[in-house]
Amino acid sequence: GLKRKEVNVIVIGLDNSGKSTLLNYLRPVEAQTHDIVPTVGFNTENFRCKGLSFSAFDMSGQSRYRPLWENYYRKTHGIIFVVDSSDRPRIVVAKDELYQLLTHQDIRTRNIPILFFANKMDLRDSLSDVGVSSSLSLDEIENKSWHICSSNALTGDGVQEGIEWLSSAIK
Ligand code: GDP
Repeated sequence: GLKRKEVNVIVIGLDNSGKSTLLNYLRPVEAQTHDIVPTVGFNTENFRCKGLSFSAFDMSGQSRYRPLWENYYRKTHGIIFVVDSSDRPRIVVAKDELYQLLTHQDIRTRNIPILFFANKMDLRDSLSDVGVSSSLSLDEIENKSWHICSSNALTGDGVQEGIEWLSSAIK
């Protein structure tokens, strides 16, 4: 396939969805930390893994940091959207954020693959990947390839499968 110098992937989702934990799982072992606090404000995390360069952000409704993360849209080749499958009340908030993302001028017209992690699948009252998919109305996504994986970011279950899909969808 096409060899790019740098393949950028943004990792987004509401706060507490599990982005940091997921990224920590992907990070090279020597760089892992085992004590991760939920992200507050605008923390970005950046690192490279298997030729992909990851940048992660929290999206929260009226965030004044929105312009900062939207800045990355133009340059991204793939998107990871993390959902806390156990947080049913906030699935509607995640859906709203997803809609804003999909209709953004720098995303709308580009065929960027989107990987959804239905994260926290280990919790008892979590929605399944199918449940998350229908809650977010993923069937209505136009002109973008997407894939959803249930994941447990604490153990890494489902994570590799998702990353492999995204890598092959980008390249
Ligand atoms: P972020 O704000 O999106 O970066 O979320 P964090 O990675 O900080 O995770 C928020 C909380 O959810 C932390 O207490 C994590 O340990 C926990 N967490 C993350 N992923 C999972 C998961 O798959 N299962 C469970 N049970 N807890 C998770």
